[in-house]
Amino acid sequence: MIKENLYEVEQNIRTACEKSGRNRDEITLIAVSKTKPVPLLEEAYITGIRNFGENKVQEMCDKYEVMEKDICWHMIGHLQTNKVKYLIGKTALIHSVDSYKLACEIEKQAAKHNCVMDILIEVNIAEEESKFGLSEEEVIHLVKEVAKMPHVRIKGLMTVAPYVVDSEENRPFFRKIKQLSVDIDNENIDNVSMNILSMGMTGDYMVAIEEGATMVRVGTGIFGERDYNKQVEN
Ligand SMILES: *Cc1c(COP(=O)(O)O)cnc(C)c1O
Repeated sequence: MIKENLYEVEQNIRTACEKSGRNRDEITLIAVSKTKPVPLLEEAYITGIRNFGENKVQEMCDKYEVMEKDICWHMIGHLQTNKVKYLIGKTALIHSVDSYKLACEIEKQAAKHNCVMDILIEVNIAEEESKFGLSEEEVIHLVKEVAKMPHVRIKGLMTVAPYVVDSEENRPFFRKIKQLSVDIDNENIDNVSMNILSMGMTGDYMVAIEEGATMVRVGTGIFGERDYNKQVEN
């Protein structure tokens, strides 16, 4: 089933690329495997998936231990500062940095490991109260502060768009965050690049790609519905 789902997602990505004149290799598909057991991830792995997204630190670390070492693990969920230390060296990219305090902790832990941690700044582009992430105005301020940290490297922006039935409703939000990333890029801040735009989920990844996404995070569309009763505690 996962193989068929991945085939369909891949076709959709290609369609969106063609529609918007983009190359398929500009887009990284992240298979969001939260709550899903390792055998299902292995199925995706043998189909060629090397990027997995998780939203809980403990769950990511458990899966990291048992799975192949050529996997890039993406932390896409809200992150508490006291958990950062478990992630460094295991996650390839933290998508969900939304405060100075969190960035400071990442700086501290990455320094301890003598490495540079790649991160994205999470933007609450629709300014939903229920969502994490910064407003557009707050983003540029945080970017400038984090740019000074030697062990943290900003690679772009991430957003979780509103849940909508018609994905077209999110197009203006995707357009807005793309513009924000261009504006930040134009400031030419040292130690900051805006090459990554992590946006688009099962319901709206095609629209996100048309509007400039370079990473799409697809869970349900690959692994099926999640059963939160079985979720690993964090
Ligand atoms: C769960 C999750 C996804 C995947 O959602 P689907 O709708 O299942 O594709 C993407 N991004 C984040 C941040 C998530 O928490």
